[in-house]
Amino acid sequence: MRFGADETHCRSCRALCPASDLDRHLWCPSCRKQVKRRGARWGRLVGFVASLGVAAYLILRVHPSPRYLMFYLLMLLLTYILTSRIAVSVTHGYYRARGSVTGCATPEGTE
Ligand SMILES: [Zn+2]
Repeated sequence: MRFGADETHCRSCRALCPASDLDRHLWCPSCRKQVKRRGARWGRLVGFVASLGVAAYLILRVHPSPRYLMFYLLMLLLTYILTSRIAVSVTHGYYRARGSVTGCATPEGTE
């Protein structure tokens, strides 16, 4: 592959890509996709664990009454949403600060 004037290397995987495909951190679409996938995975895991912790606290300490069941379920849902979003953001920041995603793309930058 020839190195064209409008092609540059991805900062994460060093794949040669058109410069217009890179984002402001100079990451290729494949690396961005992988970071999003990993962030979503960590978000689901952290959200599930946090919701499980809140559910355990509610069941063991609060002894929820059936009268407020919707309130407790809403609390669990909000715990899942908020903690998973925080985990996604932290994961994205971690990989961006690290500068690479391991095993993110082939040398040509294709999937
Ligand atoms: Zn890349």
